[in-house]
Amino acid sequence: MEDKNEELASLIFPDITETIEDLEKRYPKRNLPEGAEVTRFAPSPTGFLHIGGLFGSLIDMTVANETNGKFIFRIEDTDKKREVENGVRNLITQMRAFKVINDEGLVSETEEVGDYGPYKQSEREYIYKVCAKELIRNGRAYPCFCTSEELDRLRESQEKNKQIPGYYGMYARCRNYTADEAIEKIKSGMSYIIRFRSLGSHLKKVKIQDIIRGKIEMAENDQDIVIIKSDGLPTYHFAHAVDDHFMRTTIAVRGEEWIPSTALHLDLFSALGFEPVRYAHTPTIMKNDNGSKRKLSKRKDPESAVSFFIEEGYPADSIIEYLLTIINSDYELWRKANKDASWREFKVKLNKLNSSGALFDMQKLTDVSKEVISRYKSQELLSLVLDWAKVYDKELYDILNKDLDYAKEVFAIERDNAVKIRKDIAKYKDIIPNTFYMYDELYEKDIKNGLDFNLEKLNKEDIKAILNNYLNIHSSSLDKETWFANVKEMANTMGFCVNMKEYKASPESFKGSIADVTDVIRVAISNRHNTPDIYCIMRVLGEQRTKDRIKKAIENI
Ligand code: GLU
Repeated sequence: MEDKNEELASLIFPDITETIEDLEKRYPKRNLPEGAEVTRFAPSPTGFLHIGGLFGSLIDMTVANETNGKFIFRIEDTDKKREVENGVRNLITQMRAFKVINDEGLVSETEEVGDYGPYKQSEREYIYKVCAKELIRNGRAYPCFCTSEELDRLRESQEKNKQIPGYYGMYARCRNYTADEAIEKIKSGMSYIIRFRSLGSHLKKVKIQDIIRGKIEMAENDQDIVIIKSDGLPTYHFAHAVDDHFMRTTIAVRGEEWIPSTALHLDLFSALGFEPVRYAHTPTIMKNDNGSKRKLSKRKDPESAVSFFIEEGYPADSIIEYLLTIINSDYELWRKANKDASWREFKVKLNKLNSSGALFDMQKLTDVSKEVISRYKSQELLSLVLDWAKVYDKELYDILNKDLDYAKEVFAIERDNAVKIRKDIAKYKDIIPNTFYMYDELYEKDIKNGLDFNLEKLNKEDIKAILNNYLNIHSSSLDKETWFANVKEMANTMGFCVNMKEYKASPESFKGSIADVTDVIRVAISNRHNTPDIYCIMRVLGEQRTKDRIKKAIENI
């Protein structure tokens, strides 16, 4: 019998001479410090990096880094239909844009580092075949000659009779052929694929200790799944067991959609004589859609693609930081206590990961990102914005480049060592809407339809009077206190209340408040009611430009 299996195995894989034992030697156990974890990010080369993929890869990287382990980037390209041109390159570019850097595996479309490769599954055909051959030799795999029509019919009849669907037990017709029969069919030219021979029973239970979810119990696997397809490549299931064993992965961090397949994977590990990896099944990233939670959809939600955030100009730090708040609920507390620390200093705790659907909340991301950007110094922010604008916003890039020293001053408004740091920018696309008034050509464009004075509060004559009076006292060389004292004095003389409490107590006794006066000045300068400190803005604009804007405003009211 064994000889017959040997004959069958050699007939199917005549060129494979090595055994699993040889592979064990070629890919030995890693020599890493105690507790070191080996993780891997293993997407298909679709070029599309889903936000959930970034989420997983961030976990992979931090867990490996924190334990002095290794983080591998592997490409799962056994499904040729899913492959797109430049898929690997695009994935790597996007990973790098979000500071996800692997220690091992592919580092470009064609280059890889590490001793456990190749790291593209399509280049590992030989390794899968060695393993499949050994399973055939041991009677734990067999050729299946069923046609797709036969399999369709089987599925239909199982559905009709309310049976568990699949190729197993009494339905697994080809598992019953003797090696001789199989050899004969192959020799007669029948086409076939290779199936696993499961010895499990779905009436028995198997327990899985998931790092994130704790104990999970499920039915044992009894499915004779396909391990090698007709194109000679393995299925995901088989490649997972083989690769994660021979790459010496310790934790497979993967999406929760794989939980139901875990019993099968344990069955494969056991049949191959491998120690299984530990699993950490991450929650699916969800979205709140009119009150109900649903999966972020590649088709409907632009924010499902990591490239969306790159194009919008969210700093990598913002996305990472936001994902960390989803990964560990204590991240925000940590951030409060460590205001200036890099997120890299935060220790990710897999067992503290919320296992029920992670909600992706754009508003929360916006808030996190505003905080992140508020922490950048002006020079750092300027270079990040320049890098981004060079690719995604030509107008901004050109404007900034006209005078980089001036741009630096603009970026320094309410930043660097300011007492109050501005928090109005969540992404680089917000830069123009929030600083356009620092650039004459953009300001001119914005005021084409007039300045947005609050005419419900003050009439045109009052506005003109404020601006005329202000023109007389304006000087860019004053310090802020003196400047403000002058504005207050002017307001007071004009009948505006300079004390907000007093004003609120009897608004009818005044023309308005000091806030109305500064609002008029602010609108004349910026055409906005909300800006960073108007004094700082005028300082950077300089005496002449400030005065010109006020004069022009007076003329155009
Ligand atoms: N290629 C699989 C996927 O993208 C990888 C799953 C895993 O990490 O094992 O879902």
